[in-house]
Amino acid sequence: MFRLDECLSRIHDASLPDLNDLEQVLSLNGKDELNELFLFADGIRKKFCGDGIVLRGIIEFSNFCLRECFYCGLNKNNRKLERYRMDKDELLKAVGHLVSCKIKTVVLQSGEDTGLDPFWLKDIIREIKSSFDIAVTLAVGERSEFDYKIWKEAGADRYLLKIETSDEGLYSSMHPQMDFKQRLNCLRVLNKIGYQVGSGNIIGLPGQTLKTIAQDIVFFKRNDFDMVGIGPFIPHQDTRFGGQKKADPLLSLKTIALTRIVTKNTHIPATTALGSLDKDYRVDGLKCGANVLMPNFTPQPFRKLYEIYPQKKCIDEPVGACNFCMDDMAKNLGRFIDYSKADSLKQRKVGSNV
Ligand code: SAH
Repeated sequence: MFRLDECLSRIHDASLPDLNDLEQVLSLNGKDELNELFLFADGIRKKFCGDGIVLRGIIEFSNFCLRECFYCGLNKNNRKLERYRMDKDELLKAVGHLVSCKIKTVVLQSGEDTGLDPFWLKDIIREIKSSFDIAVTLAVGERSEFDYKIWKEAGADRYLLKIETSDEGLYSSMHPQMDFKQRLNCLRVLNKIGYQVGSGNIIGLPGQTLKTIAQDIVFFKRNDFDMVGIGPFIPHQDTRFGGQKKADPLLSLKTIALTRIVTKNTHIPATTALGSLDKDYRVDGLKCGANVLMPNFTPQPFRKLYEIYPQKKCIDEPVGACNFCMDDMAKNLGRFIDYSKADSLKQRKVGSNV
């Protein structure tokens, strides 16, 4: 007979968890079993990350993209989308606003914008690091080792590059002209250069199975990422996957819970995508392993145009509205907002980015 408590202990204790165990847990749908899983994951979160909810303020500074990812509204074939690239003043003003809200990490995100001059971004990183005591995270996709290096030298601390799926065949089926091995190589280079590295996946992609999700979780463990972002797939009407089904929120929550149990002290956000389904599942995410929230500081009118998927959380809100909302969310959970930079909790990275 299947015993969930024994299975969770095995997953917890293994240096690399068994794929069948992970798949078994991902297939659970009973209320009591899910409760048991989520409670177990919440306990691991508490033990390894504490009760603080860490904040990462995100600024989406360009929606130009050369890629054709079948799921993403920014894909270059979406000619309906009005494109923008914020200028230096607009970007620094948004950073100033984030700092005035006591946030200590800025995530600078964009599509894979060929018009992004690496030296322009380098100057911006320098200016942010010399003006403010905050951590800088970049999420601008696959770039050359040279670019990654000059940004690191300018003071960037962290880099997010989601693998999206660790299954090479599935990856190739929805990323034309992209190379899975190249993406892996970028992750390797980022790690080598000394960034705190975040990766992650999308749950509910067409063609994805519980097995591929289990493999993703093993991939996160093998690579010992500092951060792992797990977001549900939300179809966008102007993409190849426009007619596909939205992700099951429960499957996303189960993946968050298992990733917490397996990776222990990795930072795991309750992603914006999780907040953008039929209800705000970020609260549920925070209750089953997540310890990070990512308030949006992209100013209007740009925020509305960074439409990776439709009905994105807070898309019409004025900048800064997030703070109150986050405080409330933490209080309701009996937790608190951690207003520190909150570097990686992985030992090997301590001191390397200070
Ligand atoms: N160019 C950057 C940022 C891309 S957008 C990069 O390559 O890292 C940030 C994330 O949005 C992507 O990594 C992807 O996981 C997510 N995303 C894109 N379209 C989505 C969709 N339809 N549903 C859910 N997540 C999506």
